[in-house]
Amino acid sequence: MEEQTAIKTTCPYCGVGCGVLAMLDEEGAAQIAGDPQHPANFGRLCSKGAALGETVDLEGRLLHPMVDGERASWEQALDTVAGRLRSIIDQHGPEAVAFYGSGQMLTEDYYVSNKLFKGFIGTPHVDTNSRLCMASAVVGHKRAFGSDTVPGNYADLESADLLIIAGANLAWCHPVLYQRVKAAKAERPDMRVVVIDPRRTDTCEIADLHLPLAPGTDVWLWNGLLSYLAVEGHTDYAFLEAHTEGFGAAIEAARASAPNVPAVAGQCDLPEADVLAFFRWFAATERTVSLYSQGVNQSSTGSDKVSSIINCHLLTGRIGRSGMGPFSITGQPNAMGGREVGGLANQLAAHMDYSAETVDRVRRFWQAPNLVSGPGNKAVDLFQAIERGEIRAVWIMATNPMVSLPDADRMRRALAGCELVVVSEAMACTDTTAVADVLLPAMAWGEKDGTVTNSERRISRQRPFLPPPGEAQPDWWALCKVALRLGFGDGFAYEKPAEIFREHAALSGFENNGSRDFDISALANLHDAGYEAMAPRQWPIRDGRDTGRLFADGGFFTESGKARLIPLTPRPPVNAPDTDYSLVLNTGRVRDHWHTMTRTGKSPRLSAHEVTPFLQMHPDDAARLDLGDGALARVHSHWGEALARVRLDDGQRPGSVFMPMHWNDQYALRGRVDAVVNPVTDPDSGEPEFKHTPVAVSPV
Ligand code: SF4
Repeated sequence: MEEQTAIKTTCPYCGVGCGVLAMLDEEGAAQIAGDPQHPANFGRLCSKGAALGETVDLEGRLLHPMVDGERASWEQALDTVAGRLRSIIDQHGPEAVAFYGSGQMLTEDYYVSNKLFKGFIGTPHVDTNSRLCMASAVVGHKRAFGSDTVPGNYADLESADLLIIAGANLAWCHPVLYQRVKAAKAERPDMRVVVIDPRRTDTCEIADLHLPLAPGTDVWLWNGLLSYLAVEGHTDYAFLEAHTEGFGAAIEAARASAPNVPAVAGQCDLPEADVLAFFRWFAATERTVSLYSQGVNQSSTGSDKVSSIINCHLLTGRIGRSGMGPFSITGQPNAMGGREVGGLANQLAAHMDYSAETVDRVRRFWQAPNLVSGPGNKAVDLFQAIERGEIRAVWIMATNPMVSLPDADRMRRALAGCELVVVSEAMACTDTTAVADVLLPAMAWGEKDGTVTNSERRISRQRPFLPPPGEAQPDWWALCKVALRLGFGDGFAYEKPAEIFREHAALSGFENNGSRDFDISALANLHDAGYEAMAPRQWPIRDGRDTGRLFADGGFFTESGKARLIPLTPRPPVNAPDTDYSLVLNTGRVRDHWHTMTRTGKSPRLSAHEVTPFLQMHPDDAARLDLGDGALARVHSHWGEALARVRLDDGQRPGSVFMPMHWNDQYALRGRVDAVVNPVTDPDSGEPEFKHTPVAVSPV
């Protein structure tokens, strides 16, 4: 592909955030290639990214607004949304209204939604499906660093001498990053990789050691490591004294719960020799990166799991330097951008938490008449508040929560009973559009224009190369039109995404915000042409320069400037298996599908990889239940049921089963696994326990 004539954009799938070159050929077909200049992927693409051209046809698209099941004009739809919102607000107050967004949204859309709902409508109930993927990492970061900051970058994974991959099937879920690590290991065979995961996944192909720990026992393992490092003399006292606090209590708690290798091995159900090897390798290897993802985050103890990993890096001073540090990898393309604008219910805006000072600052910056003063409901709580009738109107954007939320049948009943459900969607028929009162046709990838931020804090442009189909409009545009009808026009008179981005950047530096981690104020004066041409930038941007790493010499964002080690007492998952529900269900992704398959399901090539929902089982469990390979099985729990084909796999821990998250009730086999998943959440992060639901499996 001619690089000069192609449009440079960014892949809409995972948090690696690969640069893509896109163009239309003479027949009008989309041609896709990796962008050799983009620092996330240097030209690589995985199967999903490479097949993007197969997913941009218009079949199934929502092409015009709908109101109460009837086609409507934009004027009618916007009037309906604004009128019904106004009526509900007048009768029940602004907190009867909520917004539920997505890590698929562009930062500009996110910014406008956060500003409208928190600042002008005056409801704190603004949350996002990013709650389901990385909220525990946010809590872990804030506890330790005083800010939601990923300290390092992708190059650190390549330059590490020891890479620990915890709770992440990198080979399938972040394939280009996996390819980079694999290439680095091929070049430096002494580089070691440890995979910590109850399942033996494709990522284990590059593992020198796989620790298939018992589900939910991560804090025991990492506490054990902290204890070992302290006892064996691997504490970096100079770093600890200068840059941290709380290490004494953290070590004490670790020693109380995980005093030695046999205790850890027993608790985690791992061979002692393997636990010892892991501890020794960590102790002996200064350049160590611990990468973690949903297997850590999606847990009722997800925040503690993240803290237990960060504790070990702080104790040894291994942070912020080349090839070392804890590293959270996000699932979605713009989970990070959502965090930047404050798109989580417990954030205000621009990485600011709620305080009298920040609320006053944002109120003045936005000239916001109704700015909220404290946090709102997190995702699962938000839908449960809809069920109770406390929230009577919700605007859902770029996500399909009726498939992706835990206890999904109950969530569907709750949403069906909600007074006003507005859904901004690119696709006409999803499980969520089925219960909408108003449908607003959204632009899809290839049509949208804005920015996204990947897992290494790198902001990239998503640029359009296709015309918007039918009457599809940008999400920020629809939000602004409703704001205008609600009487808030002055704050939402944007005409293009560049204007929104400039305001977002200005807020990040407003009144010395530069002292915090998220600072892109250097981009606040970017003119339109500069925004159009903007190359990837890595925040914080200080003195005009991007920041690749933070915290090598302290400089944490806590009040004291010191990082905090957190004392942790491990807790088991909330719902334990019993005689009726004796297996533990783990859910996750497959290689070639994305979320609820509204886009990847269009590609025959991608769909061919996994055709039906499957239930991965250890052969011993299957034999006990009289299930053969390929048998149709019913998976059920206290909360619901789904169907799947049994797949025998001795990489599965006995007693644990795995089922992918992508299928829904529109497919022939009702493989909507989140109907089965328990709605338990982490008390601090609100992230659901997708990795641990007691289930029973029976032949159909
Ligand atoms: Fe897209 Fe992720 Fe694949 Fe990169 S690794 S091409 S961002 S899905």
